[in-house]
Amino acid sequence: MPAADTAILRLAIPAPIHGYFDYLPPGGMAAADLPAGVRVEVPFGRGRRLGLLVETAADSEVPRARLRQALRVLDSAPLLPPDLLVLLRWGAEYYRQPPGEMFWSMLPAGLRQGAPAEALEQAIRTTPAGAASGPSALRRAPRQAALLARLQAAGPVPATQLEAPDRRAASALFARGLAERCELTDTASAAVWPAPGEGLPLTADQTAAVGAVRPDDGFNVHLLHGVTGSGKTEVYLRLMAERLQAGRQSLVLVPEIGLTPQLLARLRSRFGDAVCALHSGLTDTERLAAWRAARTGRAAVLVGTRSALFVPLARPGLIILDEEHDSSFRQQEGVRYSARDLAVVRARELGVPLVLGSATPSLESLRHAREGRYRLLEMPRRVGGGCEPTLSLVDLGHHRQQQGLSTPLLAAMRRHLDADGQVLLFLNRRGFAPALWCTDCGHIVECPRCDARMTVHLGDSRLRCHHCGHEKRLPDACPACGSAGLAPVGQGTERIEEALASLFPNHRAARIDRDTMRRRDSLERQLDAVRRGEVRILVGTQMLTKGHDFPGISLVGILDADQGLFSSDYRASERLAQTIVQVAGRCGRGERPGEVLIQTRFPGHPLMARLCEEGYAGFAAALLAERRGAGWPPYTRLALLRAEAPGRRAPVAFLEAARELARGFGVAGTEVLGPAPAGMERRAGRYRQQLLFLAPDHRPLQRLLGQLVSRLATLPDARRVRWILDVDPHDLI
Ligand code: ADP
Ligand code: ZN
Ligand code: ZN
Repeated sequence: MPAADTAILRLAIPAPIHGYFDYLPPGGMAAADLPAGVRVEVPFGRGRRLGLLVETAADSEVPRARLRQALRVLDSAPLLPPDLLVLLRWGAEYYRQPPGEMFWSMLPAGLRQGAPAEALEQAIRTTPAGAASGPSALRRAPRQAALLARLQAAGPVPATQLEAPDRRAASALFARGLAERCELTDTASAAVWPAPGEGLPLTADQTAAVGAVRPDDGFNVHLLHGVTGSGKTEVYLRLMAERLQAGRQSLVLVPEIGLTPQLLARLRSRFGDAVCALHSGLTDTERLAAWRAARTGRAAVLVGTRSALFVPLARPGLIILDEEHDSSFRQQEGVRYSARDLAVVRARELGVPLVLGSATPSLESLRHAREGRYRLLEMPRRVGGGCEPTLSLVDLGHHRQQQGLSTPLLAAMRRHLDADGQVLLFLNRRGFAPALWCTDCGHIVECPRCDARMTVHLGDSRLRCHHCGHEKRLPDACPACGSAGLAPVGQGTERIEEALASLFPNHRAARIDRDTMRRRDSLERQLDAVRRGEVRILVGTQMLTKGHDFPGISLVGILDADQGLFSSDYRASERLAQTIVQVAGRCGRGERPGEVLIQTRFPGHPLMARLCEEGYAGFAAALLAERRGAGWPPYTRLALLRAEAPGRRAPVAFLEAARELARGFGVAGTEVLGPAPAGMERRAGRYRQQLLFLAPDHRPLQRLLGQLVSRLATLPDARRVRWILDVDPHDLI
């Protein structure tokens, strides 16, 4: 028999298995005729499942007699283009995720359930009789004659493009047997993109950045390090417009909270209907429509959050990833991956440039730029010459505080408010107070399921655990001693808002955090009130840091900088500096110069001093040197194996066995540390332990993990724990 007839299908099937599944082709089909990327329905266990054809292979490790036969093939053309097949295979291997889950979690729900890749549109076309009919046949019916002529000249016409009189004429043509109904795929009717609108005249820095990205050079990674307000978005818009005019699509990835109505409005005003947004607010139907618009080329500009990296592109020309340092590019649940790092792989497969933009680039990207793998584009000046705000420290050990606001901060607030400025206060802690304390016996109310304190939410009289969601009514008496002397300790945004009402009764304040912003439009309403100047003081969490432009804010107060200074997570100080610089960047965008006050108990901390004196670049250089000295990323590669269970013993036993297994492989250069309890050992009722793998670069680490992953399920305690593997982990705690 010729090899083609005996070849097998290798499928990615959604199941928590670290491998692909082999099947025989459906009856009457040869594997060689099936292109990779089509969906195939197969028997699976006692049911059926859809799989995606990854490749055909001459042979299988499974004995032929045990291979089952696939049932049917759903697509005549690949659902996914070759670059996505490569990307997803690469991603599953690098992150050691079950490949079936990697492939299938990226598809819109409709496609996972078997919907056609192409949307079908109702259309009409000529019958053979209609095609042969001459102009004289319909002399008495000019409408019908005109429509028939149109169908003869243009081919099938979508029903949506017919006016009411045409639809009546069409019915008459059906009756005469000259026309008939048909279905068109949307590929066949892909739209022409409107010309992009006029942009702003670029500054010299912007011109240099735009000129440096030359699509003709093919794949290249550019790190655009531009201070807040330097006009990075305008650079992106110009690059996209150039690509659009060359008939090429752009894919733009932004952090979860970066896809603001402001950004969308800017994109729409420049590119009109050629823009298509992909975000978590879409219905399944809308998501599928957006996916199709990318795949057919109907949309020229695709903008979305991390999962948009996986949309197929008909005519790819450019990938942009804004705020590249942002941790929301990292998928932390289900299939784990970094959209930023995978964007590099995809751009390389497509042969297009990738632009990574940020005012506070990650240390990984800065290292790549230093060593010449990425091209560094710098925009150190704000548009219009406004200067970046100055940062200064307020030593909390030396100044009195009222409700978490120090005397120097209060004085600065009065000064700025009197001069008609607006004030932004940043505190990354929602709720009223982070703990409830008994003044009689010293008891602190803890979450019954976590090693954590319950947060006081006064507005609705609840205690909530911010780690597991557990909540209960605010008690009237101490659960330990029965005393009524319960006091909230520390500050959350809710408490600051309350304090502002008594400290600044004549200035309207607004709070922006997850509790006040359950709905997206309430966020926009508040932000509009800030922009119009009605709100004078804004207090909020992380939600405030990105994508928003407030020209009137002249003072920023960072209420507690110390959360990030002494964390056991080596990344905490990098994240702290990024947050401070991003929040600080919200001010001084208008006419007034900005001022930033950072409250801390550790004004002598060398990294803080560096940040204030030399800005982010100086800080990052110092931190890179520190990381190199300590052997932390980006100078080493890490992977984390976490295990959790309702009891303490099983995770430890499982990880100890995993450690012995890993050491037994003897991969040179690798090191295994642990197991050790996670930063918060008990969370949501489960004990959590972790094992850390280190290597000087990713190759030995990958060799180790490759051998380890397939064996983990066979360890004695594997069924008693839940385990996950995190490659290049973002959080170590
Ligand atoms: P970034 O993304 O770097 O923070 P933006 O692109 O949002 O900066 O630009 C900051 C502000 O400057 C925006 O209000 C924008 O409209 C304006 N701006 C950007 N480029 C120019 C330009 N070339 N000329 C005039 N204004 C500009
Ligand atoms: Zn008590
Ligand atoms: Zn809890």
